Amino acid sequence: MCDEIVELHRAADEDVDQLAKRHSGRLLCGLGCAQCCVDGLTVFEVEAERIQRNCREVLESKEPHPPGQCAFLGPERECRIYEHRPYVCRTQGLPLRWLEESPSGNLIELRDICPLNEEGPPIEELPTEDCWTIGPVEQQLAQLQSRRESMNRVALRSLFRISHQDAKNAKHEKPKD
Ligand code: SF4
Repeated sequence: MCDEIVELHRAADEDVDQLAKRHSGRLLCGLGCAQCCVDGLTVFEVEAERIQRNCREVLESKEPHPPGQCAFLGPERECRIYEHRPYVCRTQGLPLRWLEESPSGNLIELRDICPLNEEGPPIEELPTEDCWTIGPVEQQLAQLQSRRESMNRVALRSLFRISHQDAKNAKHEKPKD
């Protein structure tokens, strides 16, 4: 399972990189810009576990960013778990498109982009393949999670509390004979 989530992130990165190159003229995303690092993000357990496995130092010895922005934002407004960040963070900034059902039951396409990356050809006029389609990777993530007993989602901020609680419990566990 852990290799599969890493592979899912890797494959998404590959596609994101290609799209980002195509839009390099308009994307202002970079270190220190944390406009999209909002508080309250939740992820499936399969993604939360990648963070828990690989980011113990941050979780156990650093303080979460104060409420209002993502708990993993660091003092320089950097992502402290960048390599292991969830899928949703990997596509931010790109022109996004997704399908929604209208009240009359038809599927309609919606598009959006970070306001900081707005300048450039109108996103409504971009060819479909020049937008990141929300849906397929989310389905793959849901499939990985669905092998578990539940489709639990975990708040990113809660990982600090869980980790501190685990450390506390370990401290108080009686040594085994
Ligand atoms: S995990 Fe990293 S990239 Fe994602 S919202 Fe938090 S700080 Fe931003």
